[in-house]
Amino acid sequence: MRIQYHGHSCIQVTEGQHSLIIDPFLTGNPLAVTDVSGIRVQYVLATHGHFDHITDAAALAKQNGAAVIAVEELASYLTEDGIRTEPMHVGRFAIDVAFLPIGGRFTMGPEDALTAAVWTKARCVVPIHYNTFPPIRQDAAAFVSRLQGRGIQGRVLEPGEILTVSAAD
Ligand SMILES: [Zn+2]
Repeated sequence: MRIQYHGHSCIQVTEGQHSLIIDPFLTGNPLAVTDVSGIRVQYVLATHGHFDHITDAAALAKQNGAAVIAVEELASYLTEDGIRTEPMHVGRFAIDVAFLPIGGRFTMGPEDALTAAVWTKARCVVPIHYNTFPPIRQDAAAFVSRLQGRGIQGRVLEPGEILTVSAAD
């Protein structure tokens, strides 16, 4: 499984022919190094309707004929715009990689993210939703050091960087 971080909370997960993008925010994202036109996906997953999570959802859905997976209210809103949507399913699986916000102010900060990392029992934690704008500046390397102090594997991804993971045995 190939995981590419596009900056902020935007993550693309690819396995073979299948690709999914989470919280697409490339247009206007000061950290993004990838252009929307180069993204090929079958699914767009939107965690919620704030602009920094759905800016490019409709464009990517139209460009790829992709379905948007979102909560009911957001799905209905996008359907009105002619976008194909899928109801959201929440599963209970062992987590290989958890993407946890550390920016604070609008989301969890590093302290709460550390607690969340312990709760999720994920094999690897990647910090997201920081440094995009001045109010959410954080030291991601320091967060990862704190994770390691709790025996949790952490990894900072730069925008555009790819992480390859294999499924848990
Ligand atoms: Zn946000």
